[in-house]
Amino acid sequence: MKPVDFPPTAIVNTMTIDVEDYFQVGAFADRIPRDAWDTYPCRVERNIDRILDMLASTGATATFFTLGWIAERYPAAIRRISDAGHEVASHGFGHERASEQERGAFLADIRLAKAVLEDIAGSEVVGYRAPNFSVGPGNAWAFDCMVEAGYRYSSSLYPIRHDHYGVPDAPRFAHEARPGLLEVPVATVRLFGNNLPAGGGGYFRLLPYALSRWSIRRINQVDRMPAMFYFHPWEIDSEQPRVDGVSAKSRFRHYVNLERMESRLRKLLADFHWSRVDRVFLRGLQ
Ligand SMILES: [Zn+2]
Repeated sequence: MKPVDFPPTAIVNTMTIDVEDYFQVGAFADRIPRDAWDTYPCRVERNIDRILDMLASTGATATFFTLGWIAERYPAAIRRISDAGHEVASHGFGHERASEQERGAFLADIRLAKAVLEDIAGSEVVGYRAPNFSVGPGNAWAFDCMVEAGYRYSSSLYPIRHDHYGVPDAPRFAHEARPGLLEVPVATVRLFGNNLPAGGGGYFRLLPYALSRWSIRRINQVDRMPAMFYFHPWEIDSEQPRVDGVSAKSRFRHYVNLERMESRLRKLLADFHWSRVDRVFLRGLQ
């Protein structure tokens, strides 16, 4: 049976970028200790500039969930993001999973990241995304910390089944996680009683682009909701140094089809309307 091809809609989706470098990803954390990060050649700045070019060429705006660690080292790149009309949001300071932090350490981390980013960007930071979507039923107190730290929305849930993250029965669309704090989950498509990933990650690089386009159109057309998409600067960088000693599965997930990513993203940017998270979801609340 041929799947129905949904027509495009006027719905504005949200494009997001998690600003971290290739040596900071969760899957490499047991190979690369945090105190060794400074010994790796950083490639994030040039990749941010390539992303800014791609966004400019399609007129899309986006939200950049940025690590405080990166912002402190590359403040000029963060200012270029902000000057180009994009939203600077927080990905925490040191990319520690919320699920592995004590409440006090988590609160300190997200407060520090907010302060560092606001100082550099010169505007209020209202959005937060937990590293590796590491908020779930076991640490829902993280939402209370976000409110306490002054955030107004979170994008820390991916309602899928995955070995490293995901809360498969979490709501699929934006909802109030706490009074005054909206949670905006990454896009999923509901098929055969399961939520399937439709908002980025290795799936976007691995599977044919037409499937991603179909999924996002289905979300826009059938669910009548905006889709939240995410990617990382290192995903458009096929020349990045290879990290040795990682498992075959992590290696495959990290490196598959990096060389095809930029052209796919360009298609994605052209095929849909995209904007920043605060403009799509907080507009009525501001
Ligand atoms: Zn991350």
